[in-house]
Amino acid sequence: MEFSSKLLENAVYEVSQLPGIGKRTALRLVLHLLRQPESQTLQLITALGNLRAEIKFCKSCHNISDVEICEICSNPLRNKEIVCIVEDVRDVMAIENTGHYKGLYHVLGGKISPLDGIGPHDLTIEALIKKVKEGTVKELIFALSATMEGDTTNFYIYKQLNGFDVKTTTIARGIGVNDELEYADEVTLGRSILHRIPFENAIKS
Ligand SMILES: [Zn+2]
Repeated sequence: MEFSSKLLENAVYEVSQLPGIGKRTALRLVLHLLRQPESQTLQLITALGNLRAEIKFCKSCHNISDVEICEICSNPLRNKEIVCIVEDVRDVMAIENTGHYKGLYHVLGGKISPLDGIGPHDLTIEALIKKVKEGTVKELIFALSATMEGDTTNFYIYKQLNGFDVKTTTIARGIGVNDELEYADEVTLGRSILHRIPFENAIKS
């Protein structure tokens, strides 16, 4: 792609680094930003800058938050004995949208994936085990997507829990294999949480 301006080329390059955005789409977006009022573009830049500078991860569940302990963890109405293990903030949002879950979460920050160089220590698994050791958690719900990486991660955590007095369950699979949680419709996902099954049964089948 031949550019008449180095400034334009740089902006297009940076935008094209985003997932799913090719050079052509990047050019279209950048030209759009140029056409709209400057104040609007500045609002976008400010929002992204603030996000990077001020975003926090909840000290307890590791979800993205504006404060040290997120609103879910600090809500006295939530059941602190049940913890739902999810991959990232999108899963928390999807499950919250169902309105069927009143426990807490633990956000792993990914799944174990040797091909992508992601091992157990790159995730928040140690913090999860520590939480279980403290003794308040009575049930852990595995709610990772039903992919090979999701299953590997579930099983790794399950093995780490050996010897602890904690019930492990997994969300019922109305959600098909390889479906990401965030794409499941709210009714299906809500049902999956209500009709969760013991994790032992899931690994036998
Ligand atoms: Zn939290």
